[in-house]
Amino acid sequence: MSGTIRVPAPENEPVYSYAPGTSARAALKAALKQVGNERPDIPVIIGGEEIRTGETHPIRAPHDHGLCLGSWHAAGAEEARRAIANTLEARREWASWAWEDRVAVFLRAAEMLRTTWRPRINASTMLGQSKNAFQSEIDAACEVIDFFRYGAFFAEQIFDQQPHSETGIWNRLDYRPLEGFVYAVSPFNFTAIGANLAGLPAMVGCGVLWKPSKHAVLSGYYIYRLLEEAGLPPGVINFVPGDPVEITAAALEHRDFAGLHFTGSTGVFQSLWTTVGKNIARYRSYPRLVGETGGKDFILAHPSADADALRTAIVRGSFEYQGQKCSAASRAYVPRSLWKQIRDPLIEETDGLAMGDPADFRNFVNAVIDRGAFDTISGYIDRAAASTDARVIAGGRYSDADGYFIRPTIIEAENPTHEAMCDEIFGPVMSIHVYPDGEWSQTLDLVDRTSPYALTGAVFARERPAVREALERLRYAAGNFYVNDKPTGAVVGQQPFGGGRASGTNDKAGSAFNISRWLSPRSIKENLAPPTSVDYPFMGAE
Ligand code: NAD
Repeated sequence: MSGTIRVPAPENEPVYSYAPGTSARAALKAALKQVGNERPDIPVIIGGEEIRTGETHPIRAPHDHGLCLGSWHAAGAEEARRAIANTLEARREWASWAWEDRVAVFLRAAEMLRTTWRPRINASTMLGQSKNAFQSEIDAACEVIDFFRYGAFFAEQIFDQQPHSETGIWNRLDYRPLEGFVYAVSPFNFTAIGANLAGLPAMVGCGVLWKPSKHAVLSGYYIYRLLEEAGLPPGVINFVPGDPVEITAAALEHRDFAGLHFTGSTGVFQSLWTTVGKNIARYRSYPRLVGETGGKDFILAHPSADADALRTAIVRGSFEYQGQKCSAASRAYVPRSLWKQIRDPLIEETDGLAMGDPADFRNFVNAVIDRGAFDTISGYIDRAAASTDARVIAGGRYSDADGYFIRPTIIEAENPTHEAMCDEIFGPVMSIHVYPDGEWSQTLDLVDRTSPYALTGAVFARERPAVREALERLRYAAGNFYVNDKPTGAVVGQQPFGGGRASGTNDKAGSAFNISRWLSPRSIKENLAPPTSVDYPFMGAE
């Protein structure tokens, strides 16, 4: 085929409301019933072949200990090595496909997810990861679609960048996929992250070993099946849920390990980086390391901030998806004058948030992901309640009787370096420090130095000089910075996402910056009139 190919202009997928009476709501309710009853026996998938290792784990809904959604087979080192060999083989042909044929698979997957697959992927995310309908819709449906549509568009833009050629010369860039395989390691909290971490390197021609989180195997499995049905050849992505330590060891010791696409906690990313450093002499190429990790995301209010906008941002930014977003607000700095206005309504609104099963659409808040998260988060709440320099002023209650439920909690911390103001808690806990109105400037320093992270942050102010000062003084405190808005909810193509400092390599998921990490360009110079004599003109006789 000849022609300069253009992908369809990307647009963000509109978010369904799931309001009562809509057909989307009825379809989603039906899918919740179906996914809740099916109980699949999920295999490891290598080269399109289903492998049942016999080491099975049940998939339990975090909000209902009695609801078993199926089981999955865990891969170990042996399956990981097999999957790597298989993906290296599959990659050979895949890398030779025309780029438009590769992106067509993902555009087709986006279209299938927009229509027939939407209820299933949403229902598996809602039940498996305990997400309400809206939170699932913006993640598992819309963001996955956006990653695939914009990924195709950004790939086209990158491929479009070609060098200048002087007369008689033709220069070109050949955008080669990385030589080897990419190891994609995804977290539990966003179905879209798994789709992106595995999907985008594959879209530009890489072979991928995908190890999903043990808490997101169900939705991850359906993402894999979606891609398969859309035409992704076997082995381009191998789906390998299992023992993270064994699989990681097999991947990082392999000579053909070419890139790590990781999202998860800071400690795990640092340990993987350390292993890569130790193994560096083994590799055929220097691996690309892309990691988006933890955060301690802030909301900073200036005395001129709008009280209602601030209160709404604190509630939505901190408690949507139980605060289990890397971008979730978890510390706030509020001037005393404003605190007097918002304290009581904020407590009332927080304590009024409905909590329970995501299949009951009245619930704003659902369960946290597992026993470990439940214990960690409740530990922070208990220590704050017992502390002399912090108080629990909203929520603070929790119960694991039916599922892992923790009430949205607000801690008022007199001590701005209290652990609840500094640590990533990754749950529905917001810690607020009230500062004297006259100490805006000191508070900017406090925000900047309190945490090692720099993922998201927001400033609320009506006075423009305050906004400007915050933008300048907090320039490196957040990779995604919001003005008069909550610090969550980045949209692909609109707010490329990622943080600096301990929060990650800031390669901006959902952007051309990220995609370029999976490419190793080759410069080709073709001389259309090659010289035929060694001597240069300056060497001529006077
Ligand atoms: P996690 O670090 O526990 O797990 C992430 C992945 O790493 C999983 O696939 C897990 O199996 C794997 N893993 C765990 N231990 C490992 C080990 N020792 N060796 C190799 N792999 C290992 O994180 P999580 O609980 O799934 O997700 C929450 C974390 O992810 C939070 O810290 C959050 O801030 C972060 N996160 C960051 C972003 C971002 O864009 N910055 C987005 C989402 C989540």
